[in-house]
Amino acid sequence: MRILLVEDDAALADELARALRGENFAVDIATNGEDGAHLGETELYDAAVLDLGLPRRDGLSVLQGWRAAGRPLPVLILTARDGWSEKVAGFKAGADDYLTKPFRSQEVVMRLRALVRRAAGHAAPRVTCGSLSFDAQGGNFELDGKPLRLTAFEWRLLSTLILRRDSVVPRTELVERLYEYDSDVDSNTLEVIVWRLRQKIGAEMIQTIRGRGYKLSCVAE
Ligand code: CA
Repeated sequence: MRILLVEDDAALADELARALRGENFAVDIATNGEDGAHLGETELYDAAVLDLGLPRRDGLSVLQGWRAAGRPLPVLILTARDGWSEKVAGFKAGADDYLTKPFRSQEVVMRLRALVRRAAGHAAPRVTCGSLSFDAQGGNFELDGKPLRLTAFEWRLLSTLILRRDSVVPRTELVERLYEYDSDVDSNTLEVIVWRLRQKIGAEMIQTIRGRGYKLSCVAE
C-alpha cells in the first residue's frame, strides 16, 4: 500500500511519513501543490493526505484536478482551522474525509486504513481468505489464528492481494503499490517478495495468473 502526502510543513510531513512507514506504508511526499497534483495524476496510490494551504497551487484546486481527470484515490484533506466552509468546499471538490490541525499521526493512520478498506469494498474491519486473516484497521495478519510476521514489502503485497481477494491484481499495479517514488526497485523484485510470502503462508495461496498478475486463493477450510 502506498500513500501520497502533500504537505508544505516539512516537520509535519516528516512526522506523518515516519508514522505511516512505521505501519508498513510506502510514502511519497510532495511539498507544494504542483508536485502533488503531478504525482497524483501520474503515479498509483491507495490514498492521499492533502493539505489545503499549499504553495504554487492550493489543495482544493489539486483535488478538483484529480477528480476531473478521473483519479479515484481516496483523499483525506487537512484543514488548518476549524472552518466549516473550508470542509464543505473540500467535500464538494471530492474529498472523502478531513482532519483539522493539530492531530495525532495515529489518527491519520486509522482514517487512511478505513478509507483504503472502504475503497476496496469492505465494510467489516476483518478480511479473511482461507486460513489467512487481515485486521484492516489494526494492520495485522494472522495465519491459522497465529500472528504472521511480515516485512514491509511483504505486508504491502499481501494487504493489496487480500483486500482484492476475488480478483487478479496486475503485476505492474502491484509493483506501483510496493515502491516509493525514488526507490531502487532492483533490490527487491516482486518475484522475490512473492517467493518469500509463499514460504510463509503456503505456495498454493498465491496463484500466478500467467501474463496477467497474481491472485490470492481463498479455498474453504
Ligand atoms: Ca500548509
